[in-house]
Amino acid sequence: MRVLLLGGTSDARDLAEVLRAADLEVIESLAGRTAEARASEQARVGGFGGVAGLANYLQIGRVDAVVDATHPFAATISGNAAAACRSVGVRLIRLERPGWTAHPWQASWTWVPDHEAAAQAVGCLGPGRVLLTVGRQSLDAYAGLPDVVARVAEWQGDPVPTGWRILEDRGPFELAEEIALLRTEQVIGLVSKDSGGEQTAAKLDAAHSLGVPVIMVQRPEAPRGVLRVATSDAVLAWLGAA
Ligand code: NAP
Repeated sequence: MRVLLLGGTSDARDLAEVLRAADLEVIESLAGRTAEARASEQARVGGFGGVAGLANYLQIGRVDAVVDATHPFAATISGNAAAACRSVGVRLIRLERPGWTAHPWQASWTWVPDHEAAAQAVGCLGPGRVLLTVGRQSLDAYAGLPDVVARVAEWQGDPVPTGWRILEDRGPFELAEEIALLRTEQVIGLVSKDSGGEQTAAKLDAAHSLGVPVIMVQRPEAPRGVLRVATSDAVLAWLGAA
């Protein structure tokens, strides 16, 4: 069975190994946003050309099933996968790690629908430095903020706004280092996406322990009618390879 695995996350990397170990033919697909992705020898890299391009790829490549294991905030590719699979009759499943909506501190956070609302909410915190952990591609929405430390996995040399500092670092992060970062930078607010998972969750405990307000950007709506599961085992079972 030939499976197209839409990836770009650590969950997708792990799933690729699991599926290959089950003797499935896996084509892992990456957008190519990072140097690591572009250098990948195992994956196919780059966009498909929208819904039509992906539908065409599925047909020409004789793909039997698609697993969408992209990041919860990669809404365009997930929507494209749903539409393309529907149009050519290929099965689709979504592997999605649970978000932080049930996190012990979630009731104390300010939940906002998007990055523009998050930037506005930061403006209400008063003067001081905020830590943005929203990913490189979302930073434009915060350009008006005067005092920012933005932590990103990879910076690609774009100009940095005045009053901003970029911190290139990649999880997993430990509680002690997150507390040290918030203290050293004298952070008065933390902005995060509801990405979920363990690797970047320590910042939430750190903020709670220091009384630093958290602004949390909600996940975009998932495409309707797509089966969603949270584990590799559930994907394997769905593929009939468990
Ligand atoms: P996006 O906005 O949903 O997608 C934009 C376009 O990038 C898509 O229309 C598609 O181009 C291409 N694309 C995205 N993911 C692809 C994949 N896995 N394989 C082939 N093409 C892909 O995506 P994004 O938010 O820029 O994220 C890009 C990648 O980074 C995703 O694979 C995602 O898993 C990963 N990532 C995203 C985030 C995040 O916060 N957004 C965080 C960590 C990792 P075409 O229309 O030409 O097919």
